[in-house]
Amino acid sequence: MKEVRSRFAPSPTGYMHIGNLRTALYEYLLAKHEGGKFILRIEDTDQKRYVEGATQIIYDTLKQTGLIHDEGPDKDGGYGPYVQSERKDIYKKYALKLIDSGHAYYCFCANHKEEADSGEETVQTYGYNRKCRNLPKDVVEKNLSEGKSYVIRQKVPLDGTTTFHDEVYGDITVENNSLDDQILLKSDGMPTYNFANVVDDHLMEITHVVRGKEYISSTPKYQLLYEAFGWQPPKTVHLSTIMGQNPDGTVSKLAKRHGAVSFAQLVENGYLVDAILNYIALLGWSPKQEREVFSLQELVEIFNIDGIVKTNAIFDYKKLDWFNQIYIQKMAHDEFVKYSQKYIVNLPDYLKQKWEFASTLAQSRINKFSDIQEMFAFLDQYDDFDLDLFENKKNKLDKAQSREILVDLEEVLKNIKNWEVDNLNQVLQDYTNLKEYKIGKTMWPVRIAVTGQIITPGGGAEMLYLLGKDEALRRINRQIERLK
Ligand code: GLU
Repeated sequence: MKEVRSRFAPSPTGYMHIGNLRTALYEYLLAKHEGGKFILRIEDTDQKRYVEGATQIIYDTLKQTGLIHDEGPDKDGGYGPYVQSERKDIYKKYALKLIDSGHAYYCFCANHKEEADSGEETVQTYGYNRKCRNLPKDVVEKNLSEGKSYVIRQKVPLDGTTTFHDEVYGDITVENNSLDDQILLKSDGMPTYNFANVVDDHLMEITHVVRGKEYISSTPKYQLLYEAFGWQPPKTVHLSTIMGQNPDGTVSKLAKRHGAVSFAQLVENGYLVDAILNYIALLGWSPKQEREVFSLQELVEIFNIDGIVKTNAIFDYKKLDWFNQIYIQKMAHDEFVKYSQKYIVNLPDYLKQKWEFASTLAQSRINKFSDIQEMFAFLDQYDDFDLDLFENKKNKLDKAQSREILVDLEEVLKNIKNWEVDNLNQVLQDYTNLKEYKIGKTMWPVRIAVTGQIITPGGGAEMLYLLGKDEALRRINRQIERLK
């Protein structure tokens, strides 16, 4: 059997859209599952859309995600160059072949200039009146010798049908008269995406092409090109579209207004790379098992084309939170501490200094790293709160009893030298034993007094510790006064 060779063929747009990353992931999984090769090809034929540094973002993303390519611009496997702008001559050669065999023609129409320059990779030539389709040979020669600018167009059959087989969507047949004579080579000598992908996939011996289903409508034209060259087309695997949920309940193609849509942005927002990969693996593919958490290696083992679904996936940020929380909790704590550094820069100093401890509270609670700031914000948003909070049925507390406990504890806490969580817990426990209370009865007023919150990450001793002795006692004293 032929070795499986898949390719990721991004255009250097300057960021890695989640949809592109999903394509890369599936290409990678498909190849690696079969012990094949994963190839990176940079599709930069649209020079107008060139973005400085964009290729580096592609490299960085693949490296960060572990989708390591076997061949690419930086790793020649004998099929290079892997950057389309460096393959200009190759496309020209193949375009001329098609002219020779009657499957393409020179077009000198004035408007092609605008079309070629329109910046659209899938150049909209639909409706081109095919004026140059049958130009007499001598006219073509003359125009060429006069140096007239031209494009080369595909000569699509005017009747009949074209069929191709897609691994996900099955056989697809179109009437040839619904296809346009698309531009293959632009007037600047660059190929269109529609031509370059065919030539490259063939020359690079690609066996599987994974791409968004928006390319289905162009695939019959690619099929015709493969047939014209007498080449075997690769298998195509078209993927459903990733949608975003609108506030009114409808869905539309995932866009910025739905939330972060690039890989870098998700990472920036505190999602872990492994969680992102895990989640997007399931956006358009479903495993046979009733299970959702998979490492990249596990995905390689179980990935199969049969699991790819036709229905559009909806990007659900809540679900991503869920995955992320699982991955965060799985992290070794020192790794968590290290990774979180970037997200604590705006925390108050007393928390930063106690991050070793505070991070334990964070690790078990946050969905994403950017939640950290918000999670501890309540400590500084301390203001006079409703004194009714001191009343608690479960712990049989009213305001007067709460105050009594605070008065006692103020004395006890004042004398503590070792202001550490374990010691604070011990002291509070001792007091509780002495009074023959339940622990909740002691902790409730303490926690309310120093935070003003019913729910806090961590209990009374933890809150006392985080605030530090002076501030904690100041707050207790303030509430004793208020409760008078
Ligand atoms: N350069 C195309 C894109 O970024 C690639 C499509 C394909 O994989 O064929 O959308």
